[in-house]
Order: sequence, then structure tokens, then C-alpha cells
Amino acid sequence: MAELRSATVSDKYRDAREEDVALVCATLEGSLSGTSEAVGLYEEALAEWFEARHAVALSSGTAAISVALFAAGVSAGDEVLLAPTSPLCTVYPVLAAGAVPVFCDTRSDNFGLDPASIAERASPRARAILEVPMWGYPTPAVELRELARAMGVPLIFDLAHAHGTTLGGAHLSRHADVSCFSTHDRKPLSTGEGGFVLTDDGELAERARSFSRFGHLGGVEFGLNYKLGALQASLGRSRLRRLGDQIKARRSNAREIVAQLANPRVAELPIVPGGDPNYYALLLRLGYGDNRAFLAFLDRSGVPSDILRYGGKCLYDFPAVSAFRRPCPQAEALLGSITTIPVHPAVDRRQLDHIVALLNHPDWT
Ligand SMILES: *Cc1c(COP(=O)(O)O)cnc(C)c1O
Repeated sequence: MAELRSATVSDKYRDAREEDVALVCATLEGSLSGTSEAVGLYEEALAEWFEARHAVALSSGTAAISVALFAAGVSAGDEVLLAPTSPLCTVYPVLAAGAVPVFCDTRSDNFGLDPASIAERASPRARAILEVPMWGYPTPAVELRELARAMGVPLIFDLAHAHGTTLGGAHLSRHADVSCFSTHDRKPLSTGEGGFVLTDDGELAERARSFSRFGHLGGVEFGLNYKLGALQASLGRSRLRRLGDQIKARRSNAREIVAQLANPRVAELPIVPGGDPNYYALLLRLGYGDNRAFLAFLDRSGVPSDILRYGGKCLYDFPAVSAFRRPCPQAEALLGSITTIPVHPAVDRRQLDHIVALLNHPDWT
């Protein structure tokens, strides 16, 4: 047990480098506001890295969702379709807009919205689909976009977990009308607090930019202040240069664990064809019926799970959201059957071996 404890794996990755400090210090010489040159340079770097036409830097992932909903034309009383497997951070901006969250079921083996459930639950007041590819696993976005187009509503992605996730060789964000990202300290690209939206649609981009800057203070368009400051923008621009290598290391760690699995009750969650997760976490499907005892075993052996951390509950099981309860049996089964495993670049050889030994443990109870 002493050996198990000493192999404790952190679920947080800290990517601190001198080169970041140098760029942030250089920024101190100029304007620090959200309309400064440093923010423009960060937005250019984001657009290039993610192969998007437009990037708007914002003060948080929550701000990004609020801005995307506004830009997409969602207002009070409109319905927004989303899965109950999303975190509270995704649904609160929907409530803040005065919109009504309509929970639709996920597919049985990934976090994509089930088209059959959308068809059953969408009313004529549906104004947007908000998809959340949890833990960086791609969802069947091509089909969902076709459905959104047929319904005449925009497709918004909350990609707070999914920087660098691809589908069909393209960034997942390219499959949505507008994509929201967080750069909170726990996310693959961290600026402490922060976020951004990406879109290829010039009109959506301008609405997003205007809304996040008080409508450019012209007194015509409504807006709030959701700008990102220059210091965080410079930190993001510096760290963005290492994001590709970080994702490579995550993929390599995940593949190594999966290749060594020898327990018939443990397997990676299926990856959507043509998809490549960024491995914000490795997702494993567990076949123990009630998995809580196994998650507790992993946790006390030093391998934390987001499912334990956040309770593994559907959104409508939280009091703040329970008024919008629409049971989603596949979503409940999905959350009840998986665990996350940390695979960030700081997970070392000894920890990888430790994780594999735990997952293959024949007699863990
Ligand atoms: C972190 C997160 C958010 C909120 O982002 P903040 O930057 O913390 O405001 C929204 N959605 C998802 C899926 C997240 O993981």
C-alpha cells in the first residue's frame, strides 16, 4: 500500500516555463487592456493553430458560451438542446440568457447527442444545439451538423475539454458554426482564467466581438465586457506553441495504457470513426455493473477519477437544474459505466505502470 500511495497521479498538469514569463513580462511594457495589440496577436495565433477564420479571445469559457449563444441569436424563451452529461458550467450560461435547456439523450457509446432524441424533444422554439464532447473525445459531428442545418438552427460546440481533438483530419471546431473554448487552469491550454470562440462565419464573429466589448460602446448594439486581458493573452500565445507536443504526449500515454489492458472488464470507450481524441483524459468503459467500488479502489490507490470528483450525475439531478428534468437513460448509463484516467505529459513511466497494474488487478476488492 505504501508503494501505491507513493505513485499517486495528479489529475492536474502544470506547464510552467521560462519562455512564458519572458513574453508576459514584455507585454507589461504596452497596453494591458482587452483591445491591446497583445490580444490581437493571440487571436491571430489561435485562428492559425485551429485553422479557423476568426478567433475572439474572452475572459472565460463561461463567457465564451454566453457570447456564442448571443451571436447565434438565442434570446429569452428560446430552447437550447443539450445533453445532461454536460457540466454545470455549460448550462448556467443558457439559464443566464433566459433560454430554456432541453435535455436530449446521448448516444449509447459516446457523448454525442442522439438524433432520435432530438427529433422527439425539439419544439419549434428550438434555437440552437449545444454539443459538449466530454474529456476531448470527438462526437459524430458531421451527422449532427446535417441535422442542425435541416432544423435551421446553429450548431454550437463547447470544446472546453477538446483543444486539438480532430474528426476526419480536421479540428473538431471546424464542424460547428461556432465553438467555445475555456483556458481555465485545468484545461489543456491554460491562461489561469480565460476562453475564446472560433468561427468561420464573419457575421457571427462580429456579433461575438461586439457583444464582448459593450457593442463597441456605440449605444446601438447591446453588449457586456467579456474581453480577455493582455497578460493572459500573452501567456496563451506562449503556451499555444507547446500545445501540439502536449497532445502528442497525451496520445502516447493513452495508447500505451490501452495496449497493455488485459482485463476483459476494462476497455477504452469506442472512438467515433475518423476521430482522434486529444486525451484531456483517457476514457475507459468498466464492466463491473455498479462501478463505484472500482472507482473508489482506483482513487485510494492514487488514481483520481473525474467521475468521482463531479459525482457522475446527469445535470437534471442537481437542484439548480432539476426543473428541466427530461430523463435520458443512455446518458445515465454512459456516465455510470466509465472512468477517466489522467494521461497528461507529467504522468511518468512508474505512474503509467502503476495505472496499468491497477486496471489489470485480478482481485481488487
Ligand atoms: C471548464 C468548462 C467550462 C467553463 O469554463 P470556465 O473557463 O471555467 O468558465 C464550460 N464547459 C466545460 C465543458 C468546461 O469543462
